[in-house]
Amino acid sequence: MGQIEDDVKALLQAHGLQGRVVTQLAPAWTTDWMTDTAKDKLRAYGIAPPHTCASTPSGAASVVQFAARSAKPEVVNCPQCGSANTTETSHFGSTACKALYRCLSCMEPFDYFKPY
Ligand SMILES: [Zn+2]
Repeated sequence: MGQIEDDVKALLQAHGLQGRVVTQLAPAWTTDWMTDTAKDKLRAYGIAPPHTCASTPSGAASVVQFAARSAKPEVVNCPQCGSANTTETSHFGSTACKALYRCLSCMEPFDYFKPY
């Protein structure tokens, strides 16, 4: 988080702008706030974007939703070829917010950005 703040400040300075970074923890960020453009950029980078979830700002409710979602497998389309013929190989990928999937059509592994 400190690196992100430093990068924002450096970019502002590089453009001759002054500003300060305010970190706000509430309401908690959710993947539902991710724009379609951001999801397109994730897909172009090879990461399947998160599905929309009806999340609530309450942490306790989020835990209940997480448990309910875990009970049934999600259909995640491959970001490389678009196939829905994919399988989860690990519930945690390169970071805790991503799951590792493999496409059974083109055989490429990919990360899925889990919805929160
Ligand atoms: Zn594929």
